Amino acid sequence: MPELPEVESLRRILARTAVGRTIAGARIGRAPLRRRATPDFAGAIAGRRIERITRRAKYLMVELDGDDLLLVHLGMSGSLTHRDGRFDSGQFDPRHDHIELLLDDGSRLVFNDPRRFGIVKLVPRAQLSTIAELRGLGPEPLSREFNAEYLAARARGRRVAIKNLLMDQRIVAGIGNIYAAEILFRAGVRPTRRSGRLRRTEIERIANAVPVVLRAAIGGRGTTFRSYRDSRGRPGSFAERLRVYGRKGKPCYTCSTPIRDVVVGQRASFFCPRCQK
Ligand SMILES: [Zn+2]
Repeated sequence: MPELPEVESLRRILARTAVGRTIAGARIGRAPLRRRATPDFAGAIAGRRIERITRRAKYLMVELDGDDLLLVHLGMSGSLTHRDGRFDSGQFDPRHDHIELLLDDGSRLVFNDPRRFGIVKLVPRAQLSTIAELRGLGPEPLSREFNAEYLAARARGRRVAIKNLLMDQRIVAGIGNIYAAEILFRAGVRPTRRSGRLRRTEIERIANAVPVVLRAAIGGRGTTFRSYRDSRGRPGSFAERLRVYGRKGKPCYTCSTPIRDVVVGQRASFFCPRCQK
């Protein structure tokens, strides 16, 4: 499932390739997303200019001229590719491609989502703060609001495992199973530790590890498991740099102890029993 680094690296590429272009038209595929686009979607976005592309948590916001923006969530398996003949000349396939935006320079933005849990919807800008998907999200992990002070305050008195606290979107937005595991490895803290029992120095190590891990992953264009591709159709390269995630039984890169996994909140959680206390 794409997490913040995958969505952010997608945003950066699209900001270079699609911003400033006008949407000439749209095509909708045969298999609808589980949450349908508005019925007049194609008509509503034709002729609109893409002014900015921003991100909140795992949501991309394609800001159009006028009063609307396109809210995009990749769901479990979605991708948004920019096809301009240089990187990807693939034709629109109505069986697997869900939405195609034709841009005025002849390139196309294609949303493809085999499992169809993704979201593409037109939202009035004024309603952004009230829509269900974004309401109640915690601060961005790469913002100043997220720091050791903040994390300590949210962890205080909580019995929840620290890994689940990091994955709670109301606490901090955009961190999922992969990066929570990597952050806790870097911080030297086991995923099962109760949040309220962590020492101040441990909280500080976690808060410091968050931007380091996320920025490195953005630099690697994210991590590819299953179908994730960036907007030029390339897999992310960060999978090669994962220290614990998906490495059960393999030797820790730091101490050679075999990596273990434990179930936390119904998700496999990988850790080094020696490096993480
Ligand atoms: Zn180790």
